[in-house]
Amino acid sequence: MTRLPSAEPGDREGTRLRRRVVACRMCPRLVAFREGVRVRASYSQEAYWRKPVPGFGDIDGRLLVLGIAPAASGGNRTGRPFTGDSSGRFLVRALHECGFASQPVSESAGDGLTYEDCYVTAAVKCAPPGDRPTPEEFANCSGYLDEEIALMRNLKAVLALGALSFRAYTEHLRRAGVPVRGMSFGHGRVFNVRGGPTLVASYHPSPRNTNTGRLTHEMLVAAVESARAALKG
Ligand code: SF4
Repeated sequence: MTRLPSAEPGDREGTRLRRRVVACRMCPRLVAFREGVRVRASYSQEAYWRKPVPGFGDIDGRLLVLGIAPAASGGNRTGRPFTGDSSGRFLVRALHECGFASQPVSESAGDGLTYEDCYVTAAVKCAPPGDRPTPEEFANCSGYLDEEIALMRNLKAVLALGALSFRAYTEHLRRAGVPVRGMSFGHGRVFNVRGGPTLVASYHPSPRNTNTGRLTHEMLVAAVESARAALKG
């Protein structure tokens, strides 16, 4: 039987969706990559997850945090999004400071982290080579994202991390028949989507942004606070 990471979404539909995601093998390139990733020396004692990484958190929450895809030695190792890598450390510290995460660290699926009023997932559920899924892989995985969003019945705000996840979310809106003309990515931009959740854009907390100062902790906290402000509407 497939082992699932802890803290599944509470409802039955969410659990069923997670099981389907974890079993998915639709993208041959990503299946080969996730299963063949070389174990880093510092994790040589660990069994890598090597499967699709389903979303994690409060499916009844009002905030969706959307990443691009799991990291090869992050989510693909731990089985939980934004867990066990530098992007996750940067993000979860900010979510904790803003009251959405129970603790400021995200190191393993069993570390006790819970999200409050917040669900975290990625547009593509499998780790891609070079951290970059192809357009076809985004399209293959889009059905799962649509289902997750449909399950978030209280959704009020979406925080899209990086231009690629921003595009994945606007593609979701397009599929739902929502006009997306004029919506372009820019850090800190806030879009009041007619009839839908507010969309907030942020640079992705990847090392290439955080190590260069393109995205600082304060900038990410400000983006999360923008999303929080939208929850009241
Ligand atoms: S990226 Fe998505 S669609 Fe592709 S194999 Fe992974 S879970 Fe399946």
